[in-house]
Amino acid sequence: AADGGKITATLFPGDGIGPDIADAVREIFEAAKAPIEWDEQHLGKTVDERTNSFVTRENLDSVLKHGIGLKGPMTTPIGKGFRSLNLTLRKELQLYANVRPCFSLQGYKTRYDNVNLVTIRENTEGEYSGLEHEVVKGVVESLKVITRTASTRVAEFAFKYAEENNRHMVSAIHKANIMKKADGLFIECCRSVADKYPNIKYEEVIVDNACMQLVRDPSRFDVLCMPNLYGDIVSDLCAGLIGGLGLTPSANVGANGLALMEAVHGTAPDIAGKNLANPTALLLSGCMMLRHLGLNSHADQIQNAALAVIAEGTYRTRDLGGTAGTSDFVKAVIGKL
Ligand code: NAD
Repeated sequence: AADGGKITATLFPGDGIGPDIADAVREIFEAAKAPIEWDEQHLGKTVDERTNSFVTRENLDSVLKHGIGLKGPMTTPIGKGFRSLNLTLRKELQLYANVRPCFSLQGYKTRYDNVNLVTIRENTEGEYSGLEHEVVKGVVESLKVITRTASTRVAEFAFKYAEENNRHMVSAIHKANIMKKADGLFIECCRSVADKYPNIKYEEVIVDNACMQLVRDPSRFDVLCMPNLYGDIVSDLCAGLIGGLGLTPSANVGANGLALMEAVHGTAPDIAGKNLANPTALLLSGCMMLRHLGLNSHADQIQNAALAVIAEGTYRTRDLGGTAGTSDFVKAVIGKL
């Protein structure tokens, strides 16, 4: 929804360090004159009967209306009789693909200097169908569901993403040698989408081998497309390759281009409200949001400023081995814009 030249986006500050890093993003966006108006949303204090979740109908309607949002980390409420926050968002907004770019940060030394890959995870089915039952005492069945529709949808997303972002290869990650039917269908769908993209190289790699190759030489990968469980695990492995969850942004993409971006890390209750949180992951998630809206120059400007501050090393937050507070980092980034 455009409003006076500005685009309205939903913002969930979230819990724990969420408000600290959401404020940081807001401040930097404003200084960079990014044309974004935030519609701030908070989860309900009680379960909303209309959604059977702490995510309220108004929360969902905000994202559905604007089609775009940024989400801070949220504390997972524990208890029975309601749906998990992430599951509610994922199901109600049909967020079928989770996208995580992972690239080495210049000046922040990790084991590898040349990581530049993107994991794309199918987000709606597979091993996380939630269908489990005890057949007889001591025997549990958990159903892994793979459908042609969801597999094709995520494969199409992966190739389109590769094409639009000048990526040269898509690797389908699977275990079709054992799960011949389920993962067999997944790669069959990837293969038929690959046929439509002759300019993008396509390969299939068995998940255990993919993990081994990722830790040995991550630079050989480009875009990885995976069913739910492998995507969950491999995307965290990739975050570890570049220095941890504090730096990793992500996007959840749904039907009709709707997208909700979020940092990969949690609420970090140990440092909440203490001006210690590193806002980089949420800020880079905000940059993914800007790119999704076609505001690439604003995204580049903000991302380059943040990466330059990290590369220089004077204003690094504690998780990166520095002593800067959140506000010092924000000030330094604004100084670089
Ligand atoms: P966590 O990511 O919150 O924290 C792990 C460690 O990393 C902590 O030491 C923390 O201080 C540090 N850390 C994380 N983000 C940081 C940042 N931006 N800057 C500096 N340090 C940072 O993981 P956890 O402790 O397992 O989970 C805490 C809570 O977060 C739980 O309630 C969990 O359910 C929730 N959680 C939410 C999401 C989400 O909303 N997407 C994701 C993961 C965990």
